[in-house]
Amino acid sequence: MPARWKHRRRITTLSTAVAAGIVLTTVPASAAPGGSGIGDPYFPDDGNSGYDVSRYDVHVKYDPARPRYLEGDTTVQAVTTQDLDSFHLDLEGFQVSAVTVDGVPARSVSREGAHELVVTPVRPLAKNTGFSVRVRYSGEPTGEGWHTLADGGANVSGEPHAATAWYPANDHPSDKAAFRLTATVPTGWTVIGNGQPGATTTDRDTTTFRWHEDRPMATFLSTIAIDKFTVRTSKLSDGTPIINAYSPGTRIDPEREAQLPEVLNFLASKFGPYPFSSAGAIVIAGDDGSGPPSLETQSRPTYHGGFFDLSMVHENAHQWFGDSVSLSDWRDGCLAECFAQYAIELWYEKQGDDLDNGFYRSMLEESTADPEFWTTKLYDPGQGRELDSALYFKGSMMLHALRRTVGDAAFFGTLKRWQREHRYGNASWPQFEALIEKVSGKDLTGFFSAWVHGTTVPEKKYLFPGSLGSLDPAAGHAGATATARTTSSGS
Ligand SMILES: [Zn+2]
Repeated sequence: MPARWKHRRRITTLSTAVAAGIVLTTVPASAAPGGSGIGDPYFPDDGNSGYDVSRYDVHVKYDPARPRYLEGDTTVQAVTTQDLDSFHLDLEGFQVSAVTVDGVPARSVSREGAHELVVTPVRPLAKNTGFSVRVRYSGEPTGEGWHTLADGGANVSGEPHAATAWYPANDHPSDKAAFRLTATVPTGWTVIGNGQPGATTTDRDTTTFRWHEDRPMATFLSTIAIDKFTVRTSKLSDGTPIINAYSPGTRIDPEREAQLPEVLNFLASKFGPYPFSSAGAIVIAGDDGSGPPSLETQSRPTYHGGFFDLSMVHENAHQWFGDSVSLSDWRDGCLAECFAQYAIELWYEKQGDDLDNGFYRSMLEESTADPEFWTTKLYDPGQGRELDSALYFKGSMMLHALRRTVGDAAFFGTLKRWQREHRYGNASWPQFEALIEKVSGKDLTGFFSAWVHGTTVPEKKYLFPGSLGSLDPAAGHAGATATARTTSSGS
């Protein structure tokens, strides 16, 4: 288990003292520092230990005429998970001008490593205590998630960590929290965030935009986008608001836009109810004409350059797989990418595609031509391969073979139950294996060893289960050559 649990023994000491009738009004002198990481095997300094965040209240000011200069004032509400005499936040760059804990200036504030802000409050914090830390900061956003747009605007999208680039955070998907954004920009500019808009107010020559996402959100899925957006709104059939924002120069295609409710309804039919209270798109252009890849920013994915059907399906499938049910750590990337990519194939199947003879056959042909194709494990692929293309391509094939192994009822039944059981939380790949074995009543050890934990082409019984048997060359099937589909993969 992560180092965060290391200090548990001290609780025993406290309880013993209480049992002995000793009244303790302060935290024992044995309170220990929180750690600089939450325990991710690939990103040891991401997140922090010693507390769980319940809410971020992020205030920023940004003037596109002075690009790459941000003023921030962020309050983090959290609950301690140990007695803490100091704790870390993740924040990259910036001058930090003031830090208070529960309204009292911190005893000391220091910086460590690439993005650690170490805060020592005047008094140690007892375990299971709510506290708030307010950080005021300004300067250049230098973290990798911050992007400057062609006209001076900006947006945030980055994986596996992006919050660090613009507000102090426990920047790891395993600590999800509610999120409020208040952003002030010169009048004429628009700010788009996650979730639902609050009041917009204008004061002389600035305008302040407010957004809130009340469902727990992983920090890398939080976003801000500042541009001279064209904003178009509509509703899902149940009244859920849709907010689509287009940067200048990006293509507004009403037909594509009208497809979003259809996509969300389709995905809901496969995965269960849409998990969030708003939807939409942030369509941006990068300043160098290329820009960051699309990202499944919660409730409102960010698209680069255009709002395309394949990426629309992929990024919105992530609202279930990755956003509502988030990874426990970055070994679990397949829980997000394998499913988001396979959702594209499900969408084509709805249009009449035969996935066995189209998608699966063409992927087999691609894999034959690419010796690297099978070499990445889908669970725990290794540091630096956490978002390997295998998760998209080998991963979507794996899910199709899994579906043919257990049958449609067990496969889709598992997906819906997975969503229901882990909604708004975190889960791990081994939990998914256990659930589908339970639902299907099948021992899938061999299948998962071959497809998920192996690094070579699966043996035939796992590669050609059920109706896929007709694709086995040994079965003597001489089908027509399938055309490989070029799939646009975002993140
Ligand atoms: Zn993705």
